[in-house]
Amino acid sequence: MASIGTLLPFIYVFFFFISPSWGKVLDNNPIKHLQGCHKGDKVQGLYKLKLYLAKYGYLNYQHSPDDHTNADAFDEELDAALKSYQNFYHLNATGVLDENTVSQMLVPRCGHPDKIIHQHGTNTLHTVSHYAFFPNKDKWPPSKSRLTYAFDSAYPRRYVPPVVRAFNTWATSSKYFTFTRVRNIQGADLKISFKRPVHDDKNFELNHLAHAQAPPGGLFHYNTAFKWSVGPRPVRNRFDLKTVALHEIGHLLGLEHSQDPNAIMFANIPPGAVKGLNFDDIQGIKVLYGIN
Ligand SMILES: [Zn+2]
Ligand SMILES: [Zn+2]
Repeated sequence: MASIGTLLPFIYVFFFFISPSWGKVLDNNPIKHLQGCHKGDKVQGLYKLKLYLAKYGYLNYQHSPDDHTNADAFDEELDAALKSYQNFYHLNATGVLDENTVSQMLVPRCGHPDKIIHQHGTNTLHTVSHYAFFPNKDKWPPSKSRLTYAFDSAYPRRYVPPVVRAFNTWATSSKYFTFTRVRNIQGADLKISFKRPVHDDKNFELNHLAHAQAPPGGLFHYNTAFKWSVGPRPVRNRFDLKTVALHEIGHLLGLEHSQDPNAIMFANIPPGAVKGLNFDDIQGIKVLYGIN
């Protein structure tokens, strides 16, 4: 079943699991050791900063293990990429890897790149809204404002209600979509499952919490490797199912990451926190679908 699902880009949401050993993980983070570096520097391990920025769409860089010539040089391109990252996260765009920038890089976040359309867009920092769409403005056709969703047979029953609530929230807020739960997962538009890190469509990497597809894909997978909470209250060190579902449903409907830290579509969603839809998210959907 090499379905359409395998052909569509996946949106990776991953979060670092916060545990008692988290402090150690932070201390050992290679980026932390690079703090203070800037253009003109040559620092061992600097290529890891390049890899980080490349992963999220700020830099075109691939590290070849055989060629270290320029890997650890803080060049013009890295300077531009770092400034662009700092701009996206409303930091001082100095090009210096300062403490605030390092802290931002260590915050749990979604693994999907921030920069896809911003590269050829206008300077979004000066616009009022910060929502974003996929490069081709992927969205459901007008005939598909009534979407169906289903959970697979292995999906834990106790984890169903938060996702149902997330769909209801999106329906109420968009005043456009309706979401109907159906039994037959094969025929459903949106298919929700809990998957082990190694599974059929695409494996989860270590820190991937969930992934979902842009329209008209409809796969939405949570990672079984993490600890979850059902809400409505936050539970320390656990990831709130509804919060992550609201973010993933945003991707399923065609939203990309937002620059607004209050938006559900902001790339960082910390564990032990409960978050709802924001004006920016709703505005994004209304513009994408032409809803008044
Ligand atoms: Zn995301
Ligand atoms: Zn999957």
